[in-house]
Amino acid sequence: MTRWLPYAAAVALIVVAIGHHRRSVPAADAFSAQAPAPAAGGHVHWGYAGAEGPEHWGELAPEFSTCAQGHYQTPIDIRDAVDAELPPLAIDYRTRAVGIVDNGHSIQVNVAPGSTLTLNGRVYELKQFHFHTPSENDVNEESFAMEAHLVHADRDGRLLVLAVLYRLGAEDPAIAKIWKESPETEGARVSLPYPVDPNELLPESRDYYAFSGSLTTPPCTEGVTWIVLKAPRTVSGGEVAYLEHAVHGHNNRPLQPLHARAILR
Ligand SMILES: [Zn+2]
Repeated sequence: MTRWLPYAAAVALIVVAIGHHRRSVPAADAFSAQAPAPAAGGHVHWGYAGAEGPEHWGELAPEFSTCAQGHYQTPIDIRDAVDAELPPLAIDYRTRAVGIVDNGHSIQVNVAPGSTLTLNGRVYELKQFHFHTPSENDVNEESFAMEAHLVHADRDGRLLVLAVLYRLGAEDPAIAKIWKESPETEGARVSLPYPVDPNELLPESRDYYAFSGSLTTPPCTEGVTWIVLKAPRTVSGGEVAYLEHAVHGHNNRPLQPLHARAILR
């Protein structure tokens, strides 16, 4: 039995998978997804271990309930992907990273407005990127040393995360540049003394897996389009160790059940 799907069917499947439970997310969430909560009100501590760890996120605050009850959660183990003629990613990153913040959950780099990714006619603007170690998503049960999340939002606040996986190997020059300027103090924000081009984070090949998922941090909001690039980059052990030091260990949410989702490739 062929598992190939014609283009129209593939697009329809993405639209169904994503539109099925579409919910508008305020654009600000694209920034706040990894940013510290506002100092006044609504500040709920969460982390990656113990009583504030991922197993308990859903109980920490009513607005985090999707973390426990959602059926379209990320990360996942990417396997049994359905062959589809996925539309090409139209990536047009033309602005630069402007600042770095160590928010205690990750090292996040904010990008100046004007960089876009267009998919199925929808234009998403790149807001920020940040890093997890080890990877959050697996591919055929393989965990990777690190994963970058490039967070985009369209004008209606719909989110798209472009994920880049890293295997241990040669140092990544883009990561090296970012780490060099990363603030040593949690909560600190610094401006980059030189421009970092987000294109430098991407592998050459733009082949990807696509699925519908969620934010991987509280409040675990669903309706997020996930694009995981198939070609991993490499990162050195030292670079991984730097991120581990910054986040006090690991900052990957455990794998979530796939439920009734199709992964397209
Ligand atoms: Zn992330």
